[in-house]
Amino acid sequence: MTFQPHRTNEPLISVEEAQSRVLGAVTLLDVETIDLADSLGRVLREDVTASHDIPSADNSAMDGYAVRAEDVANAPVTLRVIGDIPAGRVATETLEAGTAMRIMTGAHVPDGADAVVQVELTDGGANEVHIREGVSRGANIRKRGEDMRAGSIVLRSGTRVGPGEIGVLAGAQRRSVVVSRKPTIAIISTGDELVEAGEQLGAGQIVNSNSWSLAALAQQHGAIPQRHGIVRDDRDATIAALQRALAADFVITSGGVSVGAYDFVKDALDALGAETMFWRIAMKPGKPVVLSRVGERLVFGLPGNPVSSMVSFLLFVAPALRKAMGMTTDLLPPIANVRLLAPLRSKGDRRAYLRVRVSADESGELVAQPMTAQGSGVSTSMAGANGLAIVDAGVTSIETGRLVKTLLIGFNE
Ligand code: AMP
Ligand code: MG
Repeated sequence: MTFQPHRTNEPLISVEEAQSRVLGAVTLLDVETIDLADSLGRVLREDVTASHDIPSADNSAMDGYAVRAEDVANAPVTLRVIGDIPAGRVATETLEAGTAMRIMTGAHVPDGADAVVQVELTDGGANEVHIREGVSRGANIRKRGEDMRAGSIVLRSGTRVGPGEIGVLAGAQRRSVVVSRKPTIAIISTGDELVEAGEQLGAGQIVNSNSWSLAALAQQHGAIPQRHGIVRDDRDATIAALQRALAADFVITSGGVSVGAYDFVKDALDALGAETMFWRIAMKPGKPVVLSRVGERLVFGLPGNPVSSMVSFLLFVAPALRKAMGMTTDLLPPIANVRLLAPLRSKGDRRAYLRVRVSADESGELVAQPMTAQGSGVSTSMAGANGLAIVDAGVTSIETGRLVKTLLIGFNE
């Protein structure tokens, strides 16, 4: 056995270039119609229009008295109370000059009234009401259609459905919605040293933890993970495993993409006639990351180190999933300027993504606490991490108190 030869003299490409090649290679998944109750986290694939005006009529924003603004302009004033309008009941009478109607929040404002005086400005009287302060025309009235206008688009195709969107869908009388089908992702773990979690560990063996962390990431990003288990470091076994995995919408492998004597993923992809779009990225962790297309399918060859595989999933696989499901904005994780609570160190040879815990301090500023160990193999550095601080190539340290560009993990899901 020899080390795998460097197969191309293509220089390492930048993270941004790799991301744009990924996004350029993704095709849109088809759609399905699902129940509103199942739509949380899904991506809309239709423009949703309002079924009716919301509110359906001018209504009161306060508990108080519906009045004519001109009648209370010279407050204090006393008005005769001619009716009571709870929410859900529509007044039949018109409000005449010199009168008021008791009105509850949400109730339609009666014809003739053009303002609501909140109860706090009155004596709360039942037959007649003493109003201490006047209000101007339109005060405390929510206008018809100010939330949604019948026929207007209230949610665009490509929107991820969160609790707020579910409220809008329900308000627009939608009990079913057209969304993207959930992509399936086959996850293959390569390595002779691997055993499944829970099994007896022999000398030199390690647990196949990547299969679990990558499946969790897939699930968190709206996909259906399929854990295909362990494939031995053998060319034919890797080819066979990839062939089975290609039934899924996406394939992820972990390990076996470096230049070691037993790294067979690239060979196996070549044997399957794959078109390789990149295989080395100028970043750390995660220099060896492969993007290949086999027929219609994209295969991501992620590195074996636990941190590297997760970071490269977040940078390259997650945007692909978002785009495939129809999202058009927020495809890449957001980057915020965050103040460092401890220094960051890097070799400076490649751009580094260092694990941090981002929180807001007492003044409201975002601050980052770096994880203590930053090795690519230190899986515990991903536990609790919700940010990746970016240290650019050529920079070897960033001191406490400095602002650092930090990629926010899990922000778009
Ligand atoms: P490789 O890229 O195959 O050379 O693997 C790099 C490192 O990642 C080695 O230390 C492996 O033992 C480790 N590794 C590979 N696959 C996994 C996995 N599925 N779970 C945890 N660690 C892994
Ligand atoms: Mg390996």
